[in-house]
Amino acid sequence: MVATITRDDGIAVVTIDNPPVNALSQALRQTLWDAAEELEADESIVAVVLTCTGRTFIAGADVNEFGKPPQPPYLPDVVARIERSKKPWVAAIHGSALGGGFEVAMACLFRVSDASASVGMPEVRLGLVPGAGGTVRLPRLTTMETAVELVTTGSSFAATDALEAGLIDTIIDGDLRAGAVEFARQALENPLPLPLSERPAAQPEGDFWIKAEKAVAARARREEAPLRALACLRKASEADFEAAMAFERETFLALRASPQAAALRHVFFAERAASRPPEISGVPARDIGSAAVVGGGTMGAGIAVALRDAGFEVRLVERDAAAVERGLGNVAAIYGGSVKRGRLSAEEVVERVKGVHGTEDYNALADTDLVIEAVFEDLEVKREVFNKLAAVCRPDAMLATNTSYLDPASIAAGMEGPERFLGLHFFSPANVMKLLEIVPTGHTAPDVLATGFALARKLGKIPVRAGICDGFIGNRILKVTRAQAEQLLLSGIAPHAVDAAMRAFGMPMGPFEAQDLGGLDIAAFQRRAARDRGETPFAPVADRLCAMERFGQKSGGGWYDYVKGERTPLHSETVERIIGEEAGDRLRQVLDDDDIVDCIVLPMVNEGAKILADKVALRPSDIDLVEIHGYGFPRWRGGLMHYAQARGLADIVAKLESMSTRGLSEEPCALLRSAASAGEFPNMSG
Ligand code: NAD
Repeated sequence: MVATITRDDGIAVVTIDNPPVNALSQALRQTLWDAAEELEADESIVAVVLTCTGRTFIAGADVNEFGKPPQPPYLPDVVARIERSKKPWVAAIHGSALGGGFEVAMACLFRVSDASASVGMPEVRLGLVPGAGGTVRLPRLTTMETAVELVTTGSSFAATDALEAGLIDTIIDGDLRAGAVEFARQALENPLPLPLSERPAAQPEGDFWIKAEKAVAARARREEAPLRALACLRKASEADFEAAMAFERETFLALRASPQAAALRHVFFAERAASRPPEISGVPARDIGSAAVVGGGTMGAGIAVALRDAGFEVRLVERDAAAVERGLGNVAAIYGGSVKRGRLSAEEVVERVKGVHGTEDYNALADTDLVIEAVFEDLEVKREVFNKLAAVCRPDAMLATNTSYLDPASIAAGMEGPERFLGLHFFSPANVMKLLEIVPTGHTAPDVLATGFALARKLGKIPVRAGICDGFIGNRILKVTRAQAEQLLLSGIAPHAVDAAMRAFGMPMGPFEAQDLGGLDIAAFQRRAARDRGETPFAPVADRLCAMERFGQKSGGGWYDYVKGERTPLHSETVERIIGEEAGDRLRQVLDDDDIVDCIVLPMVNEGAKILADKVALRPSDIDLVEIHGYGFPRWRGGLMHYAQARGLADIVAKLESMSTRGLSEEPCALLRSAASAGEFPNMSG
């Protein structure tokens, strides 16, 4: 039973109970249909309140039905059935009313909520548009500006904003169900409004649509659904209700079958799978009530902010009083940015900053549950830090390193209690980037690993389990990206051409622009360390730029020149000369944008396959998440490995072979070849 009906002196209360999130399964759709029929026929009933049990209103479609042929009754019919009821329905919203859930709420004549509610239309995030009249009814309920914002970005509105935008009629203090019943009674005392399908749609003026299209296209960067959603809203404004409904349906069905929707569904399921690695299934996480960060530089300050934003009081440990001041200054600077961007109010920031406590005394960590180290990338410095931590922290405190390249096992070697230690690799800026690589050593206890995943959830991060190797998953692939980008330079392709091709592919930045932004020095430091280990990293041009202290934007020049205080990359004659010298008499290639992209992305796929073979990643989809959430790989392409698989692994192998004969890449690895024969990558998590 997914819903019950109770009767309260002429008001029927339909209570949906379909845990965990009251998703619109076939059974629920049928139940809503039957309830509408039954209550219409029941002469004792004058109005209906629709409410949900559990933590939320109808949170959306049933994910178990994703990608499967839909079963009747279809949602548009259920929505229409509720809407044409002769008795007013009142949706009583708590938690989230998203997608189909908000479409059902819009079928009701009224919407009331508690203060915690939020409403939205997240379909574009799955490559879709709303499919049950969302784009047609929304501009009949609110302004076109609001409709465009909700539908094309997939964002949601909290109750107070929703009230202001007219998306809900009132916010109820106290008991929502009782308040909604009372609201229904009072509503009956006044003339009832028309259902949304009979109201006129918003008619924006002037060049609204031209501007909106420009803005949406710029944000969507080749993602189809946002522009298609905008077209649906325009149709709702310009055509009658029925024609707009037909247009939305047609758009919905076309998108549902599109490769982008398949890719976005893949990412959705990848994120769910990544947060539950089989090795910790059933293992309870430890309670983390207090947290500390050692090192208040770029990463430490960002991690402290991430912890603080998740509600922790944070201790920030630095080397000496001056460094503590600098660390706290870094934290304050990050929060200053949040105020500037309107993410937090000045008062909220004061509160957050107050909750980060600087100290140079390790003894202050005696009672801390979790300590994350983010000091210099130096094995001896880190070992010393962990020996100190092991001495002062409780034996059950969890200790983590944010190292990028060092072997976490050797950092913990000799430390007391290595079972409480693991790698938590954040990405910069740590308070913004969603990816968290979680790296257990051979000694990490299962509940410590489980706690790493629970922490990621608490911080709003996407956790990916990574094995130990140089650079874990993300930076190991990044090394290939950069080496390939330099190969292209030596083959006669200019930096701006490489960057433009990668941006056209869907990356937010090209590889050279990204290096100029982040700084070339960190990678140079890694290459020096690699050479000390006897390796031969390939970065002839970057090495020369670093020797000239061209570290990127921060030093006024890197792969590009910069006018002081500006960020626009300008062609650099110095770089052109160095490339020419390093290329020598190497054969110049003529490559179009697709070839340039292949020359970078396909070797990354090959490295991904090696990472799978080494079991550094458990699943190809984990690599997808690393690339999407750590490096901006377009989500609508489904991530690196999904992109390769969707394109055809046999094609990828053939292309890599042909590139390798021209000296443009390595040969495809054994796992990639066998995956090409099988038609798909293996899942190593089972
Ligand atoms: P950073 O140089 O900005 O900061 C390091 C901080 O550690 C400094 O403020 C320093 O005073 C402090 N410190 C050094 N020794 C200390 C000690 N014994 N006790 C307390 N504090 C000490 O470096 P960063 O970029 O923040 O990197 C820190 C770590 O994070 C490194 O391991 C790095 O590899 C890793 N990491 C960096 C990035 C990045 O993009 N910068 C990304 C992921 C991981």
